[in-house]
Amino acid sequence: MIQDILKKSVLEKEDIVHLLATQGEEMKMLLKKALETKLSRLDNRIHLRGLIEMSNICRKSCLYCGVRSDNRKVERYTLSEDEVVECAKLAHKLGYGSVAIQSGERNDAAFVESITRILHRIKEIDNGALGVTLSLGEQSEDVYRQWFEAGAHRYLLRIESSNEELYYKIHPHDERHDFHKRLACIDSLLRIGYQTGTGVMVGLPFQTSEILADDLLFFKEKDVAMVGMGPFIPHPDTPLYQYSDQIPTIEERMNLTLKMIAILRLMMPEINMVAATANQTIDPMGREKAIMAGANVIMPNLTPNEYREDYLIYPDKACVSDKPEECFSCLDIRMKAIGHEILYNAWGDSVAFTKKKAATT
Ligand code: SAM
Ligand code: SF4
Repeated sequence: MIQDILKKSVLEKEDIVHLLATQGEEMKMLLKKALETKLSRLDNRIHLRGLIEMSNICRKSCLYCGVRSDNRKVERYTLSEDEVVECAKLAHKLGYGSVAIQSGERNDAAFVESITRILHRIKEIDNGALGVTLSLGEQSEDVYRQWFEAGAHRYLLRIESSNEELYYKIHPHDERHDFHKRLACIDSLLRIGYQTGTGVMVGLPFQTSEILADDLLFFKEKDVAMVGMGPFIPHPDTPLYQYSDQIPTIEERMNLTLKMIAILRLMMPEINMVAATANQTIDPMGREKAIMAGANVIMPNLTPNEYREDYLIYPDKACVSDKPEECFSCLDIRMKAIGHEILYNAWGDSVAFTKKKAATT
């Protein structure tokens, strides 16, 4: 009985699999419980991360991603350091409180040093007023530490799938795409003291409910501070596109994503969870639905508009033509309409992380 499962304080794998299969009224009960949990353990406030898509140059070739290095159709770009800092200044002006710098993966010294310089410059804006999340892929522990010391304090590195077999079905099996290296990177980030985020795509070919349940248990076992989960969206210029007829429908992927968010909110009530842009791409109300299922973070895009068409990790990405100022007022109205409020001018750290840190120091 779903009522009995929802009363449990610890969810076992079989409970999660059961909850992932809910439909109709039962699914509504799950989402309602997750929203209640978020409102009681956190509040109705939404944290913003101004998203800066710094570069689509990537050394990797993940089989699902539109900007993979083997996709020759993509025009490659890298924002200048000045452009990144300008985006951060705009975030501060709009009261976003935090920025998230995302990029294809590069490990060369020029890139590493450039990020370090950018971090120092962002930290100079209004005496370190902005929080900084990085999502720059796999790096050595030394590089992660260098960026941490330069001012980054949150890092997002999705495991993509915690199931090794599935991981190698969605990535080439070579030294640049090594499941164990990815795991080791997450451990490095945790060890250094980042608010560490991870996550998975939902609705991948070959993905089962059991695998998704294991993903949620993996997040809990790692005790991460943040999670980002969004629906998989097949990109026609990628190898995984050939399996498009073997994945759940758009509606099913949306519902599955909402259930994943809701179940995780029950399992980890005080973490930060992102309402991913991919949700809004497959459903105009997808971001709101994710918030109502338990998410509490939104990443409005601040990338200069002329570059956005080249950062299409999946097709028809939402808000590609919106100007940052338009996003700003649109978001505020949309969140109020669902009984939520944006918290401006704050870092919006993970409560789970803050409490854990306080308990260990
Ligand atoms: N390169 C870094 C990395 O991979 O961690 C950060 C940028 S990468 C584009 C950010 C995320 O986009 C990935 O973690 C992946 O989950 C997501 N992504 C890529 N292709 C996608 C697709 N076709 N559908 C949904 N999400 C996708
Ligand atoms: Fe590169 Fe990230 Fe895309 Fe993989 S998901 S190809 S690492 S940008």
